[in-house]
Amino acid sequence: IRRTSSASEPNVVRSKAEDINIPDVFLEEYLWNGLNKWHDKVALVCAETGRKYSYSELHRKAIALSNCLHNFPKLKQNDTVAVILPNVPEYPIITIGAIQAGLKITPINPIFTSDEIQKQILTSEAKLIFTLNEFWPKVNQAVKAIADVPIVVINHQQNQPLPPKAIQFDEISKGESELSFRITKSTDDVILLPYSSGTTGLPKGVQLTNKSLVSNLYQMTTYPFKLFEDAEGSHQEVIPCVLPLFHIYGHSMAMLNMLSTGCKLVTIPKFGPQIFLNVLKEHRPTFGYLVPPIVLFLLNDSNVRSEYITQMRTIICGAAPLGAADLERFTQKTNGKAKILQAYGLTEASPLTHSQTKHIDGGDTAGGCGYSLPNTECKIVALDDDIKTGLGCNQSGELLIRGPQVMKGYHKNPKATEEVLDSNGWLRTGDIGHYNEDGHFFVTDRLKELIKVKGFQVAPAELEELIRDHPDVEDAAVVGVPHPDFGEVPKAFVVPRKNVNFSGVRIQEYVASKAAKYKHLIGGVVTIGSIPKTASGKILRRQLKQL
Ligand code: AMP
Repeated sequence: IRRTSSASEPNVVRSKAEDINIPDVFLEEYLWNGLNKWHDKVALVCAETGRKYSYSELHRKAIALSNCLHNFPKLKQNDTVAVILPNVPEYPIITIGAIQAGLKITPINPIFTSDEIQKQILTSEAKLIFTLNEFWPKVNQAVKAIADVPIVVINHQQNQPLPPKAIQFDEISKGESELSFRITKSTDDVILLPYSSGTTGLPKGVQLTNKSLVSNLYQMTTYPFKLFEDAEGSHQEVIPCVLPLFHIYGHSMAMLNMLSTGCKLVTIPKFGPQIFLNVLKEHRPTFGYLVPPIVLFLLNDSNVRSEYITQMRTIICGAAPLGAADLERFTQKTNGKAKILQAYGLTEASPLTHSQTKHIDGGDTAGGCGYSLPNTECKIVALDDDIKTGLGCNQSGELLIRGPQVMKGYHKNPKATEEVLDSNGWLRTGDIGHYNEDGHFFVTDRLKELIKVKGFQVAPAELEELIRDHPDVEDAAVVGVPHPDFGEVPKAFVVPRKNVNFSGVRIQEYVASKAAKYKHLIGGVVTIGSIPKTASGKILRRQLKQL
């Protein structure tokens, strides 16, 4: 273990890799760095429609979009642009185009309901929206009551009529291949605002700066964490781009990281067994960034032949833990010819802080999530200790992280920021774990209230707010319970109002009508006399879980 210890900071664990000098460059400079080596290669292809862009087209369209956004009425530098899209090949054109123009992106889950979209538009103060033609009705409904936010649509299916007020993506992304403006920006500017509930409460905008994102891209591509070679000659890695791009794991690792190496991204707008199988058969991916439910699909679906998995020589699995038994089944199904490496991170850290590696003996130890990345310091601190001094190896506690990839703070929420980020730069992850003698980390439990369904964040506070709004409900609490396919699912404990003929099914249906599918109360609804709380009113979730 490489440690830094001082009297005030004992047991700070550093990476196995030496620290690196991280260049202070803009994201677009980082991404376009190798462009002339792979400008004619396919960058993106849609698995559903076959629509594709080469690297030079991606570059040209991003610049044309930047030029247009720079002159866009009422849009100023550092304003926020909302992207409500599934994985379509235009996603990085918008991300890079907007960031190049000095704007920031807030990615929104495209399966959100109108109400959920409205909340994120309001709190992020988005001034422009990019979405698909087919989402126009719900997006328009979300914004029409709150503000006059222009909506740009991508005509994904090509067969639907265009809403008369919509701006067409094709119109604003054609044109020059040179930037027609100059702006003064800083690498400390916030450029991405994904949402996360952090350790407690409602989802909040996570301020990721150019520096935090670019640092993380450098960190994840340093030996022994670099996973594949950049495109060169006839060599090009192919990746199924299936992790949602509105989530930081997909956005940064599967999209930005892969585009910076000249890889081909096969974008999958909506995961389904058939489309995923087609991608495996037709596009023959050579590498995969996946989450546990998709690994389980690869293992359980009889149509997935072992060669479909082994052609992806390495799979990184993150966002939630993968069980030891599933790892074993993976080795059996692939005859040891493909490697699955676990990685750990969180939105607040751009996202990657730990990864396993095949370059170090023991670097893929079962149940672990690997070593910290270069320039990343970690501590494990006792759960009941306010002082937050680091514990020694094999002692369990909360994981704290410090590094250049850590967020600037939550958008317009200093109180929530202060709760997780201290004045010395340590980020509380809200996760429980330990490290072994080799400095390999293990995340074993979650202290924070977050529920992860198929790798997606569900904030209990958001569902509780919704359920408490129901006329039959006096009080409510939501916790995550284990689920064999989804990892966890939400379950509600409800105190019914006096004299109502209470029905749990009615509450489930009500939530289903208001919230995106993965937030539905699949874990059920049970009634309870009162919600156990601390004297200060905090819900005692562990007690509820034990029930
Ligand atoms: P998000 O911000 O949505 O990426 O969620 C981050 C959270 O997902 C972490 O704080 C963990 O609770 C969980 N998580 C991410 N990766 C892993 C992993 N490899 N093992 C266990 N939990 C993980």
